[in-house]
Amino acid sequence: MLQTLSSIGRETARIVLHASCVVCDGELPWRARKASCCAACWASLPQIPATRCRYCAAPWSGNDPGYVCGSCLVTPPPVVWTEAWGCYRGSLEKVLHAFKFKRHDFFAAPLAELVESVIRERGDLDFDAVVPVPMHRAKLRRRGYNQAELLARALARRLGLRCETALLAKTRDSSAQSRLARNERAANVHDAFRASPRAASRRILLVDDVITTGETIRACARALTDAGAKRIAAAVVAKTE
Ligand SMILES: [Zn+2]
Ligand SMILES: [Zn+2]
Repeated sequence: MLQTLSSIGRETARIVLHASCVVCDGELPWRARKASCCAACWASLPQIPATRCRYCAAPWSGNDPGYVCGSCLVTPPPVVWTEAWGCYRGSLEKVLHAFKFKRHDFFAAPLAELVESVIRERGDLDFDAVVPVPMHRAKLRRRGYNQAELLARALARRLGLRCETALLAKTRDSSAQSRLARNERAANVHDAFRASPRAASRRILLVDDVITTGETIRACARALTDAGAKRIAAAVVAKTE
């Protein structure tokens, strides 16, 4: 039954059916909650350290605001910056897992709020389109929705920008990226994306839920750059450790 309801319908059903918090399994209070996460667990989500790599958001223990990690120094990705709100572990990993795999799509709005906060903190809104990391058609059919697109739409609304999904497409099904080693990931996503000619001279904010090695963002940014995009940055909810 839950599969066929709208996002709001499913969220309501979860409240009525005394659903539990996706992090602590405790009963979800009526008010003190964010989607299907209780307020206490939401407040405990692990935020990323202030110092992180400008290009891939890898956290660093030092205190240099211009920090760039070793691999980005060697081959900088074609983005002006990448921002992440949190670390992909513990409670945030559970929330993102429910958002991505368990149809808890109503997490899009509160997660977009987190991503908005790091972008506002950076103070760079020089974009004319928000573009989600696309999902291959076959995978979209299997999954039913692209969580990056839901996030991008919610974020675009908050930033007063347009979400344009037609600017970038995934043309090759490179499933199971998470099971591959770093060098295999790069080969796996290489040329997997194609940008529309309409991306030419656009200023684009790429959006995804999680960044791991950054190879996906790199491949998307490269496709957009090849199509003539003028400026690209990336924003994600969480960076893996
Ligand atoms: Zn909880
Ligand atoms: Zn880096």
